[in-house]
Amino acid sequence: MILRSHIKNKVLNTLFPEKCPVCNENSSDHKTAPICTVCWNSIQPYEGPRCNRCGLPLNSDSSIICGECIKDEPAYRSVRTFGLYKGPLKKAINLLKYHNMKRLSKPLSEIILRMEIPQVDAVIPVPLYKDRLRQREFNQSALLAKFTARKSGASLIVDCLVKVKDTMPQVGLSSRDRRKNLRNAFGVENKELIEGKVILLLDDVITTGATVRECSRVLKKAGAGNIYVIGLAHGTRD
Ligand SMILES: [Zn+2]
Ligand SMILES: [Zn+2]
Repeated sequence: MILRSHIKNKVLNTLFPEKCPVCNENSSDHKTAPICTVCWNSIQPYEGPRCNRCGLPLNSDSSIICGECIKDEPAYRSVRTFGLYKGPLKKAINLLKYHNMKRLSKPLSEIILRMEIPQVDAVIPVPLYKDRLRQREFNQSALLAKFTARKSGASLIVDCLVKVKDTMPQVGLSSRDRRKNLRNAFGVENKELIEGKVILLLDDVITTGATVRECSRVLKKAGAGNIYVIGLAHGTRD
């Protein structure tokens, strides 16, 4: 089986040689292509100080909860992401998200599974607005959630949390505007599916954190139990 996939890999690479977009060398592993093995293996977890609640990377470890979480307590228990949104990890996420490279969802899911996944009943991806979904044809977070649910033995729920309003990108907005932008953007259908359930909410990149905050708020309001948020990468807030 391993031999067969090795041969398949070789054949595919001979037929479709690809340049790694990070280092510009030939990519020798079809599984992570176009990103080469060397660049892929350089994807490392972030191990610096973070806010215990929202997972935001902090400059010093003197405070364990960031100012925003103290001021406005989130509905989720915690946010954890694997790495920082930069380098090959950023490249891989963007290729999946904006260049339709669905095959990267598998190796990226394996990165998620390298983290400690809390014991949950259900995995829910952060949804896209329906027009945007059509635009990209699929939801990258749903693909990641599918693998994560399968491996962790939890059920995957995609028809519960929905995005009902299109929103502007959050980057560059003040914290007040971010909240305004997301107001009434998400809704919960089929509430009975999540009532009392421990939820793993999954997003690809957590930038301002406002999206997972809002999703957790509506899930909690609809009767969900504890919510844990997991993402691939963390951007910085500014
Ligand atoms: Zn490379
Ligand atoms: Zn925080």
